[in-house]
Amino acid sequence: MTSLWAQLEPLLARVGKPARYIGCELGTVDAHHGPGVVSWLLLYPDTYEIGLPNQGLQILYEILNERPGVAAERSYAPWVDLEAEMRSAGLPLFSVDSHRPASDFDLLAFNLSAELTYTNLLNCVDLAGVPVRASQRRPHDPLVIAGGHCTYNPEPIADYLDVVVLGDGEEVVSEISEVVRDWKADGRGSRDEVLRRLAGVEGVYVPSLYHVTYDGPRIVSIEPTVPEAPERVSKRTIADLAEWPYPRRQLVPVTEVVHDRLNVEVFRGCTRGCRFCQAGMITRPVRERPAEQVRTMVSEGLRRTGYDEVALTSLSTADFSGIDHVVRDIVDDPTNCGQVSVSLPSLRRRLHRRCRSADTEGPAHRAHVRARGGHVAHAPGHQQADPRR
Ligand code: SF4
Repeated sequence: MTSLWAQLEPLLARVGKPARYIGCELGTVDAHHGPGVVSWLLLYPDTYEIGLPNQGLQILYEILNERPGVAAERSYAPWVDLEAEMRSAGLPLFSVDSHRPASDFDLLAFNLSAELTYTNLLNCVDLAGVPVRASQRRPHDPLVIAGGHCTYNPEPIADYLDVVVLGDGEEVVSEISEVVRDWKADGRGSRDEVLRRLAGVEGVYVPSLYHVTYDGPRIVSIEPTVPEAPERVSKRTIADLAEWPYPRRQLVPVTEVVHDRLNVEVFRGCTRGCRFCQAGMITRPVRERPAEQVRTMVSEGLRRTGYDEVALTSLSTADFSGIDHVVRDIVDDPTNCGQVSVSLPSLRRRLHRRCRSADTEGPAHRAHVRARGGHVAHAPGHQQADPRR
């Protein structure tokens, strides 16, 4: 693999926010490529500002780079000014870590957390010089994979994906790496061969190995066409969040991004089960991180990154057991010098009031709790769905 930096650097003088494309963030890993190494390019199909803080991508970036024989780098959708320059100069999509061409990686793995990014996914694949339709990809082209909340219904984009992963990614990425490593060691045969092998991994759906029958816009049946493809694909679920204290080395961006703060996930799933809520349904069951591990991840993360704000992330964060004590401990921690803000980005209104009480006790004149995000605004829906209010 060769770096495209020499061709990219002159273009950066002509675009806005060139810092989006240079890498070098605190927390990056020097991925070791080489023969036999399985290389992943983790892509967030939106701008650097939106994609860099994404926790899912950062977690997989660390986990993959910790595995022997695996190298992972990152890429984000270039803004329209750089894309125009790249297309004009014939420069393909690249990784921001070492500026390698995207098409040199074994896997292009997209995080799909919003349907609005579907068109960006197609554009990124095209910009990488890889055929957009899965059926037109050649033997040497990377495998195009997607995971994230939107892949629970992959059919709208099934023609463009080689592999879809359902559920938590922490374990399945290592299993996929092993399949691809063995396929490469066996001489990197046909794409069909590796896709059939991948279909045997729990949580993996390979669209090309199924026949989907429609009645107008409605799906009538989805039937596997090869014995390797299971009739039903179950989502992956990590049982114990305590075994996955990631990201250990959260990336610190080199330019302003959304959610520009330390993020520590306190639990997955949601206790509430509102029937209208996609996130609450697909992330079941509830799995809490031990409070002590939360405190450790916060204190170490703040020390390492230099942030003065931490977000405790989850759905309906105030449902975390002992949230009052955890927030107060973070605020009172003398190593934080009383200068740390705590954000709870997902709150229901009743619990929002409870968390605000932490603001009036302890050293509130030096630190404060901030409630942000849509859950306060979602209060009417929560009221209908929660009979305990
Ligand atoms: S409380 Fe919020 S996150 Fe939880 S299920 Fe209801 S709407 Fe979804």
